[in-house]
Amino acid sequence: MSDRYIDFVNSPFGQLVAKNLGLPNPMPLDRFDANAPVVKGTVLLGAANGGDLTDAIAKVLSNINAETLAFSDSGVQEAAASVGLNAQAYAPSAEDTQKFKALVFDASGIKNSAELKALHSFFGPVIRKMSGSGRIIVIGRTPELLDDAKYTTAQRALEGFTRAIGKEVKKGCTAQLVYVAPGADANLESTLRFFISPKSAYVSGQVVRVQATAIVGETPNWAQPLSGKVALVTGASRGIGEAIAQTLARDGAHVICLDVPQQEADLQRVAASINGSVLALDITAADAPKAIAAHCKKAHKGLDIIVHNAGVTRDKTLANMKDQLWNMVIDINLSSEERINDELIAKKILRANGRVICVSSISGIAGNMGQSNYATSKAGVIGMVNSMQPLLESKGVTINAVAPGFIETQMTAAIPFAIREAGRRMNSMSQGGLPVDVAEAIAWYASPASNGVNGNIVRVCGQSLIGA
Ligand code: NAD
Repeated sequence: MSDRYIDFVNSPFGQLVAKNLGLPNPMPLDRFDANAPVVKGTVLLGAANGGDLTDAIAKVLSNINAETLAFSDSGVQEAAASVGLNAQAYAPSAEDTQKFKALVFDASGIKNSAELKALHSFFGPVIRKMSGSGRIIVIGRTPELLDDAKYTTAQRALEGFTRAIGKEVKKGCTAQLVYVAPGADANLESTLRFFISPKSAYVSGQVVRVQATAIVGETPNWAQPLSGKVALVTGASRGIGEAIAQTLARDGAHVICLDVPQQEADLQRVAASINGSVLALDITAADAPKAIAAHCKKAHKGLDIIVHNAGVTRDKTLANMKDQLWNMVIDINLSSEERINDELIAKKILRANGRVICVSSISGIAGNMGQSNYATSKAGVIGMVNSMQPLLESKGVTINAVAPGFIETQMTAAIPFAIREAGRRMNSMSQGGLPVDVAEAIAWYASPASNGVNGNIVRVCGQSLIGA
């Protein structure tokens, strides 16, 4: 779908008009380009009080060949050198013209509230030196797993800081907080790669937890991390599902594209474009779970990744909502997913280091007028992630969800103009996301190196003002 305002506001005349009228000034966002480096510009790495995650962070920066500078006096230069990353020391001054594509800060050494000033000392002098589509990444320790009360408090405080600067930085920049559990440092790579790259274009203000886990991960070929994997995507004939199928196939997976029989022509088109296969059925049919499990077993001896993307809206205020609309939305968006998961588990279809990936919505977090059925179903999806995590983990499988905000699809093109414009602009990026932005987050969960990413709900909403 086209967003003509973005084109207008980025023309010389449009810029003048927007500036004088105080209108939102969205910037076209950088997106993944197979020929570009993971980070197209300089990374500034800093740390507070000898944080103990710096080695793990520097190792990832070294693996992606990031051109890195070490923030002066923060001790990171030595940590970087110890893992083979050459990072020159950098001390900011008001006059220097240095630009940064990413600011990465190891905050794990912040042990009490007074030490939070390290955030101010690091980010304050350089925040204006970010280039467009820049990345701010704060990395700390999972507060609820720490046994010192002051340390827990200080680490929890990082959340407010990160979300606030996400709202301050403009020019398509994002800000995230990654909490790494003690003992999980080696599980950081897939997450840091995702957040530092253009793949996370429309994700901002998010808090992610990387866990220590008994699930054994795999170090992939990062250009084709899903090679050898089989993924099933529901609702794959169009919109976000089509983008998910394309993105997982780009990353090397064989994708089984599932949609209702009425969509079979589009489904065939999508599957053919990615060398995938087709499974045309209605996920709410009584025999759907058995048919899915049997197909995966027969055609692929199992399944590595299932993406529960199929979903519908049937909006009415509660007083005007007929039983049928309520039941249909809950059944498609939630109950059918529970039934399919149960069958895949019962028949042992999901392989070790497998993935269950769900699509919630910010409506399921914040609620939305006229969407009591939809919001219930999408909050239920979050409940399903939380409730199924222990059982799936015991079987070597992770479960996570994305919660999209305003994504440019047929679903949102049908919204009346004024409401559509509000949805598009009321976020830190002042624009809607693209289906591929949701798909990239799903591909990060799907990565065989994301074994420590479990039970997360990540919003793909440009840091929408609606919801948490
Ligand atoms: P869409 O309507 O374009 O696509 C949904 C697909 O699901 C369709 O191809 C449809 O045929 C399929 N589907 C519906 N019922 C099915 C059933 N019973 N069995 C099998 N397939 C079925 O929607 P979209 O915008 O691409 O949304 C995809 C997902 O993202 C949905 O779960 C939606 O709730 C969620 N979402 C979308 C947005 C957005 O802004 N577009 C925002 C938040 C969440």
